[in-house]
Parts: sequence; C-alpha cells; structure tokens
Amino acid sequence: MAQSELNRLKWDAIDVLLVSGDAYVDHPTFGVPLLGRWLVAHGFRIGIIAQPRWDRPDDILRLGRPRLCAGITSGSLDSMLAHYTAFRKQRSDDAYTPGGLAGQRPNRAVIVYSNLVRQAFPGLPLVLGGIEASMRRVSHYDFWTDALRHSILLDSKADLLAYGMAEQSLLEAVQRLDQAAPGQHPADALAGISGTVRCATARTPIPAATVPLPAHEAIRQDPFQLVTATLAIEAQIHRGGPVLTQQDGIRTLVIEPPADPLDQTVLDRLYELPFTRLPHPSYQQPVPALEPVRFTVTTHRGCAGGCTFCALALHQGRRIQSRSVPGILREVRDMHRLTGWNGILNNVGGPTANFWGARCTAPTSSCRRTSCLWPAPCPHFKTDQVGLAALLRKLAALPGMRQVRSASGIRTDAALREPAYLDALLRDFVGGQLTVAPEHRSPRVLDLMRKPSFEGFEEFVRCFEAAGKRSGREQYIVPYLMSAFPGCTDRDMRELAAWFRQRGWKPRQVQCFIPTPGTVATAMYWSGKAPDGTPIHVARSDAERLRQHGLLIDSPAPPSRGTVNRRRRSAP
Ligand code: SF4
Repeated sequence: MAQSELNRLKWDAIDVLLVSGDAYVDHPTFGVPLLGRWLVAHGFRIGIIAQPRWDRPDDILRLGRPRLCAGITSGSLDSMLAHYTAFRKQRSDDAYTPGGLAGQRPNRAVIVYSNLVRQAFPGLPLVLGGIEASMRRVSHYDFWTDALRHSILLDSKADLLAYGMAEQSLLEAVQRLDQAAPGQHPADALAGISGTVRCATARTPIPAATVPLPAHEAIRQDPFQLVTATLAIEAQIHRGGPVLTQQDGIRTLVIEPPADPLDQTVLDRLYELPFTRLPHPSYQQPVPALEPVRFTVTTHRGCAGGCTFCALALHQGRRIQSRSVPGILREVRDMHRLTGWNGILNNVGGPTANFWGARCTAPTSSCRRTSCLWPAPCPHFKTDQVGLAALLRKLAALPGMRQVRSASGIRTDAALREPAYLDALLRDFVGGQLTVAPEHRSPRVLDLMRKPSFEGFEEFVRCFEAAGKRSGREQYIVPYLMSAFPGCTDRDMRELAAWFRQRGWKPRQVQCFIPTPGTVATAMYWSGKAPDGTPIHVARSDAERLRQHGLLIDSPAPPSRGTVNRRRRSAP
C-alpha cells in the first residue's frame, strides 16, 4: 500500500496495481487481497490502493506506474448497493471501511476508478473485476436510476472485464501482458481468455461460432428481451460455451465462456496462502466486516440452488467446488499462530452451508435445468452431509479448539434428506439460532424465485422441533423472508404474515426485494414478465413496496422470537 513497503520488499516497481472500494483487509474472503496474494504466489509484484480519494489521482500515483496493468473493483459489494437501501435512501454506514464510515468510495466506483487510473497512467491496460463488474457485464437494469445501462466495460472504457471468481482469468491476462511483444496492443494480447468480456475490435474480431444475445437497443425497446439475455448468461455460466456476443450500437461485446473451476489442490493452496487475517496496519479503526469472518473457513464455492434473485448463480455459478478435508484442517490448524485466535471457529461453510461435497453425478454434461433443486431435486444431485458432519467433528477435535460453528444458511430440502447431518448440526454446531431461507409462502412467488415449496419448510420446522426435544436444547429458527418480489401481491404478503402470526413468530429478517443488476429476478422486475413471458404483478412504487414490507414487519404477534439483526442480501 505504501512506497516504504515496496522498499522493504526490495521492489523497484509493481507489476499490477489493484484498486478497490473496500479497505485492505488481508483475509481470503476479501477479493482483492485474495487475488493479490494469488498473483504474488505466481511471481508478480502487486500493489493495492484501497479506497483512494477520487477527486484527484494522488492516491493512485502513490506506488508509481505499474509495469503491466491495473485491476479495478468496487469491492465486495456493488457500490450502489453499498450506498443505498431498498428504498433508495442513503445508508449511514459501510462495513468495509475502517470505523464503518460511509462515503469512502464513490457511486459507480468501477467507472470512477477507471477514469482515475487512466488519468494517472495514460495507456495502461485496465481489467475490471468483482461483483459490480461481474453483474453488469452486459446490458443491465439499474434500479437506482430506473434505467437500462450499457455494459460497464463500455461505460468504463476498460480493456477487459473478468467475471466470476477471477483467479484464472486475471492470472492469464497478467501473464499474457507480461509476455506480449513490445508495442503489442493490449486488445491483441487479451483476446479469447475464458471468464472475460471484451469489445471486439478490427484486430480481435468476433470468433466464428458465437450466439448473439439480444442487442442493447432491442432490450431498450422490449424489456422482456432482458429476461432472455439474462437466462442465456445464466446458462453460459452453468454449462460453459458457446461464446456469446451482444451488439451495442457499433460495438460488439464478446462474452467468453466461464473459466474452468480451480481444481481441489489449487483451491486448497489458494486459501492457505499466508493471510494475516488483519486489516492493513495503517488503519486506526477496525473494519466491521472483518470481525464476523475473521476466524472462519471457506469450504466450497458455488450454489446449486439457482435462486432467481441471487447474484451468486451468475457470479460463482452452480457447480460446487469443494475443498479437501486435509486442506481445510491445515488452514484451521494454522490459525492458532494468528493474533487474536481464541479457539472459536465462527463459521465453516460457503454460500450454502450443507453443500460442501455436493456434486452432479450425471453421466453427460447436457443439463438444461436452471436449478439442481427446483422444481424438485434432480436425481443426479448428490450431497455429502454426513461427510460434512464428520468434517465438523474433525475440526472440533483439533488441539486448542473450543467451539466450531456452522453459521451459513442451510438448504432445508437438502438437509431433510440426511437427518443424521441435521441432528449433528443442531446438537453440536449451531448456537441458539439456525438461519434458513423459506423466503415466501405463496407457491406462485416461490416458483418465480425457484425456491422449494413452503410445505417442505413446514416439514423442516417439525424435524427441527423434534430434534430440539431430543437434544433438550432451546433453539430457534431464524427464517429469511422477502417482500415485494416480482409476482408478489399484498394478498400474498398477508397470507405469509398470517402463517407467522398463527405460530406466534415475529419475523425480523425480512428483506424488501432489491433489483440488483444482472439477476433473472431483476429482469422480471423491469419487464413485468415471468421467464415464460407471462405478465406478473410488480410492486414498483416505493409506496407499494413499503406497504408489502410493512404487512410482514408490522404484523402484530405474541412473543417475539426472531433476531433483530439487519439483513443485507445479494453479494456473495
Ligand atoms: S444434471 Fe442435475 S445435478 Fe447435474 S447440473 Fe443438472 S440439475 Fe444439477
């Protein structure tokens, strides 16, 4: 982060500059430090400029001109989501900033930082990454301006956009720039990298066999075309090829198929890089986002659920990549060397806790489903929750371990299939509360979300209560619910509220749907149509959205049994 640190490392310059909207926290759940250490492990010298001032390029200039390129990200969240609530009100805090201060990154950070770097280092190749770039990789609806926007690659005038978990694609881009012939144009060096989006040029034309997405102008004229485009993007990240293209005026975007997942050994090595799990020492105040994740371990990536509102499906994809048991044990065993370790592992998980070890066993890769679990579990989808329970026990048996928690949400439909896992989880690895996400009660809304039926949730509640009686522990379910989802009416919300009232539960974890960029649900919101083209009701005005939200939040109920934490969705 500073020239003095370069001197200490005896680096006369850096190869790559990573610019982030988050504070610099050296922890594997923060994207830029993860990529930084990954590139260093591959022999490159990396500088990180975190939360630079954006009115002048002084901070960007701090480490000098990088030899190869700059990587730019808004940070762990889309900058608009980080700044504004579901009702477009400005947030008063930012968990990714020292002291939780709001306002340390600009709106549309990727575009602003790109301009800043271009001003500081004219001609330097720019590579975009992170959730903001990933989810805005093609034409998308922007809730905060209620308008269709161009791909962020075009708006930022960068050379390349790396979508998803970008280890492979960023590394390949950096290696290609490193090996480029003197004077070679970056566009020539960066063409054809898996997991990237670029603009076709005269030098790097469109590959032969491509599938066109609806053009930007066609989407502007017929919003349902956004649903079509988003479903095609979703299919591409799940199934791989072919290359997609999107016409935007005279420009053509080339969307390469996703990068191959990291193999298990590489994934283990990545998470075992020497992270300090601390914020940069220059910060005077703690970074609030670190504390809950500081002593946690990531066991896998990806989620097979394919929920239409979740950015994960289009960022990490549906294929689950699980780490090995020895790799996870090694990482956790090493935590005792770190400052502040007190023997409590706060979470063992990934996007969905009980999908570690889950895999597709289909003999061919011709799957056309949008979810491995909806409308019913696919017979080829296999979980290994008994193996997961055994892993949790091994972690709990490590020397000096006082407690192991599994705090990520679980898929109730999958958990019901392996009761031994549920028993072990409830007995030993959750505290008083278990997070689950039925999201809604209405079958129509659940179908539009691609969530399992509410009857399944009721069955889960029965099993949970029976397990509680067996263990003699007082435990509560914390259900995540959503209001104002496309297709949801006041009547649906009243019926949902009635169910909770009947049970004496006061739901507190209710998120008003935010149409974040790039999801299928957002395309439904903007177009007012379901993926099959059927018109649906959309609560669009703030008044109606607030009303739907209030029907659940303000529903009177005897004694309160929920949590009072705020809930923020959408970023993996
Ligand atoms: S075949 Fe089944 S398990 Fe495999 S990816 Fe498709 S839906 Fe998922």
